[in-house]
Amino acid sequence: MLLRATKRPLELTEVPAPAAKDGQLRIRVECCAVCRTDLHVVDGELPDPKMPLIPGHQIVGTTENGDRVGVPWLGWTDSTCVYCRSGQENLCDRALFTGYTLDGGYAESVVADERFCFPLPAGYTPEEASPLLCAGLIGYRAYAMAGDARRIGFYGFGSSAQILVQIARAEGREVFAFTRAGDEAAQQFAREMGAAWAGGSSQAPPVELDAAIIFAPAGALVVEALRRVRKAGVVICAGIHMSDIPSFPYELLWGERVIRSVANLTRQDGVKLFEIAKTTRIQTKRTLYSLERANEALAALRDGRITGTAVLQIGASH
Ligand SMILES: [Zn+2]
Ligand SMILES: [Zn+2]
Repeated sequence: MLLRATKRPLELTEVPAPAAKDGQLRIRVECCAVCRTDLHVVDGELPDPKMPLIPGHQIVGTTENGDRVGVPWLGWTDSTCVYCRSGQENLCDRALFTGYTLDGGYAESVVADERFCFPLPAGYTPEEASPLLCAGLIGYRAYAMAGDARRIGFYGFGSSAQILVQIARAEGREVFAFTRAGDEAAQQFAREMGAAWAGGSSQAPPVELDAAIIFAPAGALVVEALRRVRKAGVVICAGIHMSDIPSFPYELLWGERVIRSVANLTRQDGVKLFEIAKTTRIQTKRTLYSLERANEALAALRDGRITGTAVLQIGASH
């Protein structure tokens, strides 16, 4: 499914199978979960995508040796810049990203740098594993930024939140879920997945929060979350793109409250998340689409009609 120009539907197209260069794996794609970042790429909200482009960066597939691997958003780094040399490869100045500046997984096959692919934990089907590749990974990086917070607010309860609430619960923490005002279905879903409380984004939770993670791409939520975190609490912006943050009184930041963003992922984040996924069996609610229906999946995500994660089923695992 090819993006020929931003703000246009993807086109079902035959393209030559990609050839693997040195150090790359050629992977037969089994499935690819849809991420909100795919929407930002298709909608032209991120600068300079490869064009034409095959989107998709939550890829599960099999190599020519028959090994099952996952391909994440971080597709390549130079390994020499100041960030790469200090354990911050997520910030590499020359990084390339799957489904953005490299072709991704809305396709029957993909090539990927072997060093950035992950082995997947046993016991997960391809469809179960695919949301872990970004919603899980970058979500986990954001969650780790909350430190030892016991009471965490999640603003937006979609693909990342449904995964992280399970990890938070397993670690004895409480999650407070904020959705669009009046979205009873999303609030019900959050409670079913283990949230201690769920309400609208401008509602006050029953307790002060130690931290909040913003998953929805709306800058106004940063201000809402600042109102709800205690002194020294942290508000973490997990998305790669967000609308402008409205101005707010300094008083909301006062008391050593912190606002920070999370960019991309390191391979170490993946190692940690997949280790957790071995002992905490992560369940996800998924809506399956065939590859040809990728535009429908994107439209449903854009309109807030996906509960959990949309996954494109591509290969012959079903
Ligand atoms: Zn670098
Ligand atoms: Zn993503």
